[in-house]
Amino acid sequence: MTKSQFICIYCLKREPELIPSEAHIIPAAIGGTRYSKKIVCKNCNGLTNQMFENAVIERFAFFRSIWGIKSRKKDRVPHVSTKLKFADIEGKVSIDQNGELTGPIVMTNLDTNGIKEYRVIGFGEKGKKQAEIKRQQISAKHPNVAWEEVHHAETPLIQFVIETPEVDDIILRRLAAKVAFESWAEKRASLVASDSQYAQIRDFILTGNHDFCSGVLPAPPPLTGLSDLPVGIHAGGIVHNVSSPILGAFIVFFGLFHYWVLISTSYQSLQSDDEFWIENPQKGYFPDSKLRCQARPILIDWGQYVRAWRNDPQGILKKAVTYNEAKFQEAWREALQDGRVLKP
Ligand SMILES: [Zn+2]
Repeated sequence: MTKSQFICIYCLKREPELIPSEAHIIPAAIGGTRYSKKIVCKNCNGLTNQMFENAVIERFAFFRSIWGIKSRKKDRVPHVSTKLKFADIEGKVSIDQNGELTGPIVMTNLDTNGIKEYRVIGFGEKGKKQAEIKRQQISAKHPNVAWEEVHHAETPLIQFVIETPEVDDIILRRLAAKVAFESWAEKRASLVASDSQYAQIRDFILTGNHDFCSGVLPAPPPLTGLSDLPVGIHAGGIVHNVSSPILGAFIVFFGLFHYWVLISTSYQSLQSDDEFWIENPQKGYFPDSKLRCQARPILIDWGQYVRAWRNDPQGILKKAVTYNEAKFQEAWREALQDGRVLKP
């Protein structure tokens, strides 16, 4: 054989029946740049993109915006949909990467006589102009509408309510499993990852069954290279040891969302090995993965994580949320101080 034959790690079909494709290991939508052309077929890549790419676009919109992660197709930083609260008004709005509203707020409701009422609200000079344009558009369609101009205080207190992803979201746990499994397949070849010992993780990634395959970590993973990641960095580490049948991984998204993943529970390793990698979504680069060169192999007590998550997911979650909030607040304060984000 002159060319290594490739097996898709998801559908287990082989060339030439299937077409190889360029599969991003961490979705490009959250700034992933690393990809492999020898592990996932075109069909399954489309399927996993649909499942994970769309999910992260929606859930991590806020993070993509503050770190300026552009979308591949439109080459711009996506707007963030959010709720806005201002005086007695509450409405859905969209904000751009500078934290500014992308347009006026338009609200409709029926008054006590059943007559439709429009409110067009714009903040600042730019917002006022946008609101006036919108008002004229509505007037053109509904010439009978009578308008009344209302001025609010000069510096209104506007409150944005931004929803960030729940750390225990099953789709994020599946995403962590996908990143771990594909990293392993890339490292060891697709033929290795097509083995039946990976049936459960494959199923968990594709369907969400076997949800013991991945869980939330209440704090950073117990690996020196991964423990103190700055906010905004994705990272992962694969660990196995000759004296344990567990092939596991720790996956971190944005330095805030930490997961453990059991890739296989019957892995026979010939030598211990631990490897970690980081990916900087803001700069869009992927430094070479590193072996941590431990003097002694690391034996991780995986049961500690699995049991804890299964016995008390709420307790783990509470700790994870507290950790996330504190870390994010600290990063936000630092960014404000150095002028890396605009002051609200
Ligand atoms: Zn496939």
